[in-house]
Amino acid sequence: MIATVQLGDLITDLQSLGLRVESSGLDSRRGGAGPSDAGMVWIEGVAVTVPVAAPYVAGSPYVLRNEDDGWAVYRDGTRVASAALAPRPRYYDLTTADGIPYWQIALLHLDSLASTVNQRCAYWDTADQCQFCGIELSLQAGRTIAVKRPEHLAEVAVAARDLDGAVDITLTTGSTSGPDRGAIYLARCARAMKEASGLPIEVQFEPPSNLAVLERVRDAGVDSVGIHLESFDPVVLARVAPGKARTGIEGYFRAWERAVEVFGRGQVSTYVILGMGEDPDITVAGCKRAIDIGVYPLVVPLRPVPGSLMEACLPPSPTEIARVYQRVVPYLAERGLRAADVHAGCARCQACSAIGLLERSAHENDASVAGRIPLRQV
Ligand code: SF4
Repeated sequence: MIATVQLGDLITDLQSLGLRVESSGLDSRRGGAGPSDAGMVWIEGVAVTVPVAAPYVAGSPYVLRNEDDGWAVYRDGTRVASAALAPRPRYYDLTTADGIPYWQIALLHLDSLASTVNQRCAYWDTADQCQFCGIELSLQAGRTIAVKRPEHLAEVAVAARDLDGAVDITLTTGSTSGPDRGAIYLARCARAMKEASGLPIEVQFEPPSNLAVLERVRDAGVDSVGIHLESFDPVVLARVAPGKARTGIEGYFRAWERAVEVFGRGQVSTYVILGMGEDPDITVAGCKRAIDIGVYPLVVPLRPVPGSLMEACLPPSPTEIARVYQRVVPYLAERGLRAADVHAGCARCQACSAIGLLERSAHENDASVAGRIPLRQV
């Protein structure tokens, strides 16, 4: 067992550099919203998603190797951590009565059942398309269906809970052109899944123009929401996510404030993507302002999705990621926001970031977290 802080460093490294896979057996996602190009593994018992398929991964010093009695992560020939692969979920073998495979309706991301209920986005193929996003790629590749029906999602939720131990549900959507941005359909899906399975649910959407929609989402049984700004740097936001930039950073803060009133402190989160050219001071200041109002900033490195508009980019270096973690993590601890208190979704799961692990360490008064520099690429 390696110390929590060292494990945080290792995960930071892996999410920047990627993990080469020597033998087959690691399933990965290509395209889609959320952890695209993601190999899903447990490292020292911690859920982690790591890049495995992008070309830059070939240069990573880290390799996943099959051992006699399991798996392990090696660096330059030295074993650095134990690993376990997520088994193929049993519910993937099931189909709906009308013949749709369950895995085309929702995927199991480690222990979270995840679905993009509407796989199309109003911004796709327009000048407003978010450059980091791959939402329609999995649809184009035939790996999913365009719109998931609430009754199908409900039966998949029950199967994933009973057959594979899913502990929560994460639902997202492409943005619609309607004023609710897709939140009302998400709420319908969430209601059906909650009534059938009882699992905690996070839903993710853009800020609706009428914030009263947030109460309808809560009344459908939703526990947590993700309203993802992606970058606090206005210049970067305008370049990489012009549609979101039109809502504006202040528009996101207004939505977050109302969402915190409706769902509670810490039950509202935003992705904050590092490595898109942003100013780290602006990024950290934005994270702190979000934390002050009870919003959990899930800081993640850019994971360039093959096929997306940023497929030729690289993730930021481990050092650059760690510098932001080192400034945000103590503030999370100081303000008492904890991933462990998030009921459902990405900020609960934390597999795409090391921030939750480091934050847990900081909450446990491990003072060494603030000054650590991660392992470096040779
Ligand atoms: S709003 Fe942006 S991130 Fe969300 S689905 Fe549309 S293109 Fe992707």
